[in-house]
Amino acid sequence: MNQPIPYGRQHITDEDIAAVAEVLRGPFLTQGPHIGAFENAFANYIGCKYAVAVANGTAALHLCCMALGVTTGTRVITTPITFSASANCVRYCGGEIFFADIDPATALLDINAVRTLLEQHPKGYFSGIVPVDFAGYPVDMASFRELADEYGLWLLEDSCHSPGGAFLDKKGLTHRCGDGSLAELAIFSFHPVKHIAAGEGGMITTNDEALYKHLLRLRTHGITNKSTDFTEPYPGEPERGGWYMELQELGYNYRLTDMQAALGMSQLNRIDAMFERRQEIAGQYDIAFAGTAITTIVPHANVTHAYHLYVIQIDDRKGLYDFLRTRNIMAQVHYIPVHLMPYYRQFGWKPGDFPNAERYYARCLSLPMFPTLTDEEQAYVIKSVKEFVDA
Ligand SMILES: *Cc1c(COP(=O)(O)O)cnc(C)c1O
Repeated sequence: MNQPIPYGRQHITDEDIAAVAEVLRGPFLTQGPHIGAFENAFANYIGCKYAVAVANGTAALHLCCMALGVTTGTRVITTPITFSASANCVRYCGGEIFFADIDPATALLDINAVRTLLEQHPKGYFSGIVPVDFAGYPVDMASFRELADEYGLWLLEDSCHSPGGAFLDKKGLTHRCGDGSLAELAIFSFHPVKHIAAGEGGMITTNDEALYKHLLRLRTHGITNKSTDFTEPYPGEPERGGWYMELQELGYNYRLTDMQAALGMSQLNRIDAMFERRQEIAGQYDIAFAGTAITTIVPHANVTHAYHLYVIQIDDRKGLYDFLRTRNIMAQVHYIPVHLMPYYRQFGWKPGDFPNAERYYARCLSLPMFPTLTDEEQAYVIKSVKEFVDA
């Protein structure tokens, strides 16, 4: 293969380009009609009541923490195996991040480790949990809901890896990732390697109307121009004309542009085919690596894995990573545990704190996984991995 094969890659069609060009010829470049259309279509796809489009997934996490009331001293639990933004959002608001170890069978936040952590402190010590559907494997949010209710916690689901993912709860009900049925809020990203590429972009989903309205205001500086939300006029205030609006709290400019919304919408129109292709690719990898020295995570029968990533585990991970580079295969590592990042180590986190996460990190490697990966390219990836393993 002459062209390097990345671990993930966006797919832009002529239709996508036409959708963006159409916006550029129109009157609105930001907060035009495509924002609302994209929000509605996305909410419909996910199966939730409300969706708020924002500048990126990290902005989505930040606004969610604000809306959930995270402030100085608020304590929140997340997983060490995630992109650091899942933890950083709490720090933006001055809160404190606590980690709990992962379950090696799924590489997701281990609910038993979370329970142990909760039991070590008085009730009310923690405020919320940020579970992450890592790699596209849906968190059992029903079990987290039970635990959260027991301790009076909110749940913010980081679903960046899992649009279209779902799990079946013990009662036989299907919950799609981020559908608002269990977690108060969920977030998605439209970074080019994610399921839907909008350049940059993010979405917050919820079934909670109050949170939804608050998020709309926080997205635009904390300003409202809806007369029903205005405060009482104060004495001496001039007559309120059509220009009147209010800055009611400190928010941000985290808006998505109309060009990005049009691109996201165009991609959303073919998400089912892209999702299906990810399943096929995962199926081929599963077959190829069964019975070899490579460890793969086999999804439980009650989940639909969204396969943002296909992660294998192998003892000589660096050897394989370097070998694949010589073959023009750009495998990647997801993730260096967040608690080991220098920024988080200053709070006292250290190697040895989360043995399952650290062992996972030592052995994990994400193989190419994106809808336009061809059968030929995948066969070449598999052949190359096996060549290294058998050598
Ligand atoms: C990509 C990602 C984010 C951040 O999204 P951006 O759009 O890049 O800001 C947050 N959490 C996880 C798990 C992600 O993969």
